[in-house]
Amino acid sequence: MTKVLVTGATGFIASHTILALINKGYEVRGTARSASKAEKLNATLSQYAGKPIEIELVSADLTQDEGWAEAMDGVTYLQHLASPIPNNLPKDANELIIPAREGALRALKAAKAAGVKRAVMTSSFASIGYGWGDSRPSVLDERHWSNPDNIKDNTAYTRSKAIAEKAAWDYVQGDGAGLELTTINPVAVLGPAMSGDVSASLELITQPMMNKVPAFPKLTFGIVDVRDVALAHVAAMEKPEAAGERFLVGDAVLKFTEIGDILRAAYPDRKLPKGELPSWLVKMLTLVNPTLKQIVPELGKERSYSNEKSRRVLGIDYIPAKEAILASTNSLIDLGEL
Ligand code: NDP
Repeated sequence: MTKVLVTGATGFIASHTILALINKGYEVRGTARSASKAEKLNATLSQYAGKPIEIELVSADLTQDEGWAEAMDGVTYLQHLASPIPNNLPKDANELIIPAREGALRALKAAKAAGVKRAVMTSSFASIGYGWGDSRPSVLDERHWSNPDNIKDNTAYTRSKAIAEKAAWDYVQGDGAGLELTTINPVAVLGPAMSGDVSASLELITQPMMNKVPAFPKLTFGIVDVRDVALAHVAAMEKPEAAGERFLVGDAVLKFTEIGDILRAAYPDRKLPKGELPSWLVKMLTLVNPTLKQIVPELGKERSYSNEKSRRVLGIDYIPAKEAILASTNSLIDLGEL
């Protein structure tokens, strides 16, 4: 059986990627900061899949050398998903940038040393659509790169993703030559959560559903279902023509108020925020609700993009954004999180 190493195996997107790989007959090994999470992870995967699943989990931290060589032993493909994606931004951007960049390089160097054929790395739309200021193209795609140095149009998180992706491409074009690299650059990922330990992107659902904001901040989000992101990771690994390519993965762009309308129609008994929140008020609210700091660079902006390449090369037939929103919400209700 062909063995695939999935880093950050406990994560939201990684869990779905693991299932997509298993469904296609691959043997999966995962990494987590602590291998003691294996039992819980396998129980979660098995419960969601409705069949017994048992993957091997090994310890490897993005900030430490230990464990990476052992993790890569016997592996044909690397799926590198681990990267810090916090609910609340740290004061020092390096708390995200260093593990993202150095962790990616640790994983890629270990892959190269082990003779891995191809690495698929989960980058982000954050590496494409940020830091452009007034010169942002009206339709963004894989040819575009964010400018992480323009801190007004970035957060520490978006900077960490662009810096890490750039370092990965530089590596395979230099010392890492011979290791194939493909990046997946998703917009905000929604869809079914397998456990209550949810990714920061699901705040798009939990914030309004828990009525944590008085009205909707003036924001738009590109949305993609996690099940499509998982399929994109597998196709990026398998398709010969995907080597050396970036793929922007996303369905529709929706206003936050439109997400609210979808939720209000589906859950009429819930009290949800109404209307649009002035941007100055959002900035003030960050004092009491620090999670909102992540969205300050987004206020009033619409970053449109094309998903044509992912449909053409990876064969993704996108689950509509509305379905992703409702799948997230239903799963969080079932898990007792909402
Ligand atoms: P999760 O928070 O669910 O998963 C992140 C994973 O990264 C966790 O498994 C965590 O492992 C691991 N991780 C964090 N810090 C470290 C570290 N120092 N060492 C080792 N592992 C670490 O997030 P997602 O599933 O949403 O994100 C997965 C990837 O997708 C990330 O690279 C993220 O940037 C990217 N992405 C996500 C988007 C989204 O909307 N969710 C959009 C675009 C890109 P542990 O169990 O050890 O904590």
